[in-house]
Amino acid sequence: MAEAQTKTGGCHCGAIRFAADVDLTQTVECNCSHCAMKGFVLTAVPAAALRVQSGEEKLTEYRFNTKKIAHLFCSLCGVQPFSRGEGPDGSKMAMVNVRCLENVDLGALSPMHFDGNSR
Ligand SMILES: [Zn+2]
Repeated sequence: MAEAQTKTGGCHCGAIRFAADVDLTQTVECNCSHCAMKGFVLTAVPAAALRVQSGEEKLTEYRFNTKKIAHLFCSLCGVQPFSRGEGPDGSKMAMVNVRCLENVDLGALSPMHFDGNSR
């Protein structure tokens, strides 16, 4: 596993800005109804590795299915930079939308395909 690197990112309008310590050798594309529509490339981090620098109050929460994951999108531009939830062991986690990070070569990543649609 590669070492985590700190990347900055945000939503489209810039209201939400954040930094995250991410390991971009570990990315996921999921085929569930929600991820398929939004086209996410995601990477999981411990909650503490995601630091919201501005715009926390602009985040709107969307929950569906088991309601365990807080999908957080910007109330101004609609972009979802990350979600918050819990890992299998109950620890607080975040899923970062890699497409919202700056200075990432998406074409160089090899996302694992997660079959969320069958779960
Ligand atoms: Zn925005």
